[in-house]
Amino acid sequence: MYIVMLGKPGSGKGTVGKMLSEALHMIHISSGELFRSYISRAGDIGKQIEEYVAKGELVPDELAIQLVEKRLLEPDCKNGVILDGFPRTVKQAEALDKFLKEHHQKINIAVELDLSDEDIIDRIVKRRVCSNKDCREVYNLEFKKPKVEGICDVCGSTLEQRPDDSIETVKQRLQVHYETAGKLVEYYKAQDLLYTVKLNIHSGKTSEDVAKEVEKYLETNQS
Ligand code: AMP
Repeated sequence: MYIVMLGKPGSGKGTVGKMLSEALHMIHISSGELFRSYISRAGDIGKQIEEYVAKGELVPDELAIQLVEKRLLEPDCKNGVILDGFPRTVKQAEALDKFLKEHHQKINIAVELDLSDEDIIDRIVKRRVCSNKDCREVYNLEFKKPKVEGICDVCGSTLEQRPDDSIETVKQRLQVHYETAGKLVEYYKAQDLLYTVKLNIHSGKTSEDVAKEVEKYLETNQS
């Protein structure tokens, strides 16, 4: 099974995607994390990627597709994948469909998490991530506080703010989202694969609730 997570930056795609991956025993791949791992290795590809990520712009389609497809060929992907942050454009979605078809696979559902821009900005400025690249647990200073301030509950490393989580870069990332997301949502809607969850940070609905809702939907709608 292949699940695609859609939504604005900071909408909770990663958190919900990880919960789904545990419940459904599928690997969770975040294209943002994948690209940040190239940046931390500081090779030529990493340097190229960093220029786009730092500005809040999308990595060019060709490069994004090439790196994600390379990752999808790894053996841990054979039981299915939850793709978070990829595709971001129709060109990427088409390339992914072609790639999956060649491997006798297909997308089963595209889950869209829909939050207002105000909620997104509020969540992103309060987001902290574990600095340990093998952990990268995500926290929120209001909704998912670490037990000890500034320290990761899972591995004990210090927490940090992503450099592209500044208000200026978030506004740019939202702008980029609006340029591409509408067409992507239409792309999956036309194939009857879209499942939208409307969210509001004050509704009390947790990421666990959202993951359970998606699981239930999959149980009743997938054979
Ligand atoms: P994310 O962690 O999903 O918020 O992504 C962080 C950054 O990585 C984005 O702002 C883009 O610069 C880059 N990125 C992530 N996924 C993609 C993608 N599918 N296509 C192009 N750029 C991407």
